[in-house]
Amino acid sequence: NRRFTLVRRPSGLPTAADFAHDTQPVPEPRDGEVLIRNRYASLDPAMRGWLDDRPSYMPPVPLGAPVRASTIGEVAASANPDFAPGDWVLGLNGIEDYSIAKPGGFTMKIDAKAVPSVTNYLSVLGAVGLTAYFGLLDVGKPKAGETVLVTGAAGAVGSLVGQIAKIQGCRAIGIAGGADKCARLTRDYGFDAAIDYRGKDEAALTAEIRAAAPDGVDVIFENVGGVILDAGLNNLNQGARIALCGLISEYNSTEGAVGARNVWQLIVKSASINGFLVSSYLDRFPEGAAAMAQWVAQGKIRADEHVDEGIENALPAFLRLFEGSNQGKMILKIGGE
Ligand code: NDP
Repeated sequence: NRRFTLVRRPSGLPTAADFAHDTQPVPEPRDGEVLIRNRYASLDPAMRGWLDDRPSYMPPVPLGAPVRASTIGEVAASANPDFAPGDWVLGLNGIEDYSIAKPGGFTMKIDAKAVPSVTNYLSVLGAVGLTAYFGLLDVGKPKAGETVLVTGAAGAVGSLVGQIAKIQGCRAIGIAGGADKCARLTRDYGFDAAIDYRGKDEAALTAEIRAAAPDGVDVIFENVGGVILDAGLNNLNQGARIALCGLISEYNSTEGAVGARNVWQLIVKSASINGFLVSSYLDRFPEGAAAMAQWVAQGKIRADEHVDEGIENALPAFLRLFEGSNQGKMILKIGGE
């Protein structure tokens, strides 16, 4: 069982010295458990937080353990009457060839034949799609005709949020890094306007958002934080809603948070900011997944996936999320037999 393990808690951006690759005997499932042959691992910005030892919504990854990740794979051996070898399952496991899991909670069967690619369960039909769906519709509550600002807009979650905003009849403005990503926002994902944040300070970003949304922003779907959030706060409309999904610009910070200095604007505009976790919507997942699947089938939503191959590439693939070199949902194909 080849594993990608955590051996030291990273300070700032993770480095190779924080991890190890080892090989252990393949474990055996006990009563009620299944042995999963992991085929793909989802690489998510949130995994950076799980490497730290501090209070969070999940315990930290223990030192010496495989790095925690959502995976999809096939049941290789089963001690659970509801699961048979060959069944495809999705679960919260580790970056390793084989994981032991107890069905229930996050471990569930998936129908690999019902989708164009089984990896869709890690992107548009999985947590990423549901984050966009519930975060925008339930937390952001956009109404037709309103303006929605999406940060981290060319990423897995952001690109879906922009498309859902368009389906709702909203005007969608996206912020992303670099000219290529900005071109993709309008060309591939249907955003009405795109803003490149690279090399710009709060004043410049504030002005660019104002130019793209002269009447103000009604909903912000925030993935980034820092000066990008501050520039968004400077452009709120009366009664605006901010769905706080992530703060990726701060995940590797060694100096603490830098953003949200302009929260005064929430008072000025009687606006609200609400953080949310997709896992809070577990009981409504079927509703969200059905809506996303329908929009994909109707050609209304495009979902890009960026698949890197080989467990040995786990770290460089993970770091793409922080360099911005991923083009779509970042996924690692765990190769080998
Ligand atoms: P993405 O596919 O969006 O990849 C991350 C992107 O973030 C990069 O491509 C890069 O794009 C951008 N980025 C990285 N560092 C910075 C920085 N310092 N400043 C600005 N942009 C940066 O990842 P996901 O779609 O999986 O995740 C997006 C966000 O959603 C994250 O904040 C994540 O934590 C959050 N999330 C929250 C969930 C919840 O339940 N609340 C669930 C899932 C995700 P660029 O090239 O444009 O800089």
